[in-house]
Amino acid sequence: MTAVAFLRPEFVESFPPEMERGVLYVSIPYATCGHLCACGCGQEVVTPLSPGQWTLTYNGENISLCPSIGNWGLPCRSHYWIRDGAVRWGRRYTAREIANNRARDRRDRDCKNNNGSGP
Ligand SMILES: [Zn+2]
Repeated sequence: MTAVAFLRPEFVESFPPEMERGVLYVSIPYATCGHLCACGCGQEVVTPLSPGQWTLTYNGENISLCPSIGNWGLPCRSHYWIRDGAVRWGRRYTAREIANNRARDRRDRDCKNNNGSGP
């Protein structure tokens, strides 16, 4: 298993049957992004785009997703941000922190550091 440092965007209508490592698939028709977990475990991570879920920023070359990708449901429990295509690792959380984070994520999905539109 090798971690991926960068995810390049690929705009598609629907995801391919087998995703490729290092690619961030973006489906505008389905308002969904998908990629293989950046830790290298090979699990598919699907991030729906909506005001209450993930927000995508495309700068013409690369993509940022907000908030962070927290794969609490996967065995690897990886946690990272995607910023202009670069994978920035967050630290791994304990089970208790994950429970707390989930609650906090629901309350506070602010991306003001990302797009300046926060409160
Ligand atoms: Zn993983």
